[in-house]
Amino acid sequence: MKYFVNDSCIGCGLCAMACPEVFEMNDAGLAIASKSEVPAEVMEAAAQAQGGCPVGAIENAD
Ligand code: SF4
Repeated sequence: MKYFVNDSCIGCGLCAMACPEVFEMNDAGLAIASKSEVPAEVMEAAAQAQGGCPVGAIENAD
C-alpha cells in the first residue's frame, strides 16, 4: 500500500500531523506522501489521515 497526494491539497497539514511517517509538507506548503510502502504499524494512522483530508486529496497509489 502506498498513497499519493493529488493537486487538490490545500496544505492544511492534518495528514502530516496524523501520520508523519507517511505524509510530510513540502517547501511549497503542500503534502507529499512517502514513495515507500506504508509500514504495517502505521497503516491505520495513514488510513485515518486519508479519511481526514478535508478535500479528499489523498489517493491510494496502488
Ligand atoms: S490533509 Fe489533505 S489538504 Fe490537508 S495537507 Fe494533507 S493532503 Fe493536503
